Amino acid sequence: MNILILGAGGREHAFAVKIKESANCSNLFVAPGNAGTAQVAENVNLKVTNFEAIREFVLEKNIQMVVVGPEDPLVEGIYDYFQEDPDLKEVMLIGPSKRGALLEGSKERAKEFMGIHKIPTAAYQSFTAESLEAGKKFLETLNAPYVLKADGLAAGKGVLILEDLAEAKQELENMLVDSKFGAAGATVVIEEFLEGIELSVFVLTDGKNYKVLPTAKDYKRIGEGNTGLNTGGMGAISPVPFANEEFMKKVEERIIKPTIEGLREEKIDYKGFVFIGLMKVGDDPYVIEYNVRMGDPETEVVLPRIENDLVLLLQKTAQQRLDEVEVNIKKESAVTVVLVSGGYPEDYEKSKEISGLDNVDGSVVYHAGTTQKDGKILSSGGRVLAVTSFGKDYKEALKKSYQNVDKLHFDKMYYRKDLGFDLS
Ligand code: ATP
Repeated sequence: MNILILGAGGREHAFAVKIKESANCSNLFVAPGNAGTAQVAENVNLKVTNFEAIREFVLEKNIQMVVVGPEDPLVEGIYDYFQEDPDLKEVMLIGPSKRGALLEGSKERAKEFMGIHKIPTAAYQSFTAESLEAGKKFLETLNAPYVLKADGLAAGKGVLILEDLAEAKQELENMLVDSKFGAAGATVVIEEFLEGIELSVFVLTDGKNYKVLPTAKDYKRIGEGNTGLNTGGMGAISPVPFANEEFMKKVEERIIKPTIEGLREEKIDYKGFVFIGLMKVGDDPYVIEYNVRMGDPETEVVLPRIENDLVLLLQKTAQQRLDEVEVNIKKESAVTVVLVSGGYPEDYEKSKEISGLDNVDGSVVYHAGTTQKDGKILSSGGRVLAVTSFGKDYKEALKKSYQNVDKLHFDKMYYRKDLGFDLS
């Protein structure tokens, strides 16, 4: 079948590589894609939120499946747009409906959902400009650190964790009254701080059935030892060594099952990936957040570990027949090391020539922010490449990735050398 992937990062390159391996994929397109996706698919210059342009392209190329990488089109209702159009209704769109996407698009809604379906998460209350004073009073009842979350999408920047009560009150006011995060911060969720270690669990669901995919741990901070500013992600490891069988049983019983059951009870159409951000507190899992799509860079370690034909798996998802398949996961560990432009996540330079790609041996290089010009591959974003390797454990896999990273170069290239530091 003809397949279109929406997005432009390492995640979408990893999807493209895995989908291209399938005998069930004939023509593969990525919109807008990058220099990596151009090697396995045809890039199409379409904006992922321009539904009309996507509609035209899907009809013109007889696309039968659309895989949505990033959250924006989902939160803006691309699933519903396809469902409501008689010409697009039969196209298999992998992702949730707009109501489902609210689990990521509104943190207040996600907390409400978890409350209704008794899914363990941090205690919280939400506030608007009208209830600012009540919000400040609520902060006084909590202990530091204080967790403030803008309700809406804020490109991963809408969460503040503050040590000082006065500062927390001031930031609450900045968000609610001075629109620090624009409309996304018109409602703020204040929640209890959870002390523990984070990991992510991925689930594929057709809205009735589900399959648990590999776990992953990502490294969000720019600096070694998890210090400095937050980034889109500096690397990831799968599986997560401390997510043993006993812990994963708790995750499935207390979190995954009630989540899928909750979607069913609320009659929410959801045919896609659920990315559950967890905090392991002692031996117990708590939900930090839901995302309604795969993560980046987690996809670059999760997908390569899935042995199944991904197109068949996604087809069963769209047909609500996931109960008919068994998902097989490679035992080996996978890691990815993300190479970024110097200065990222603040100002950085682009258009740096990347060399050494042909010398990489034993790793797969997924492109994130790259573009092709005059036969050269140039950097075009903050996160540039993700170098994925397998090993008998994450340490062996990391060694391979770092060996290959040494062969790659672009001006002011930076990466973290300490991935996995918190695991042993
Ligand atoms: P992302 O950048 O993953 O998209 P986000 O902006 O959607 O994140 P969250 O994932 O809810 O927001 O929070 C961002 C980070 O803040 C988490 O990864 C976690 O490290 C920290 N965090 C959030 N909530 C809590 C909490 N209740 N207790 C402790 N840490 C928290």
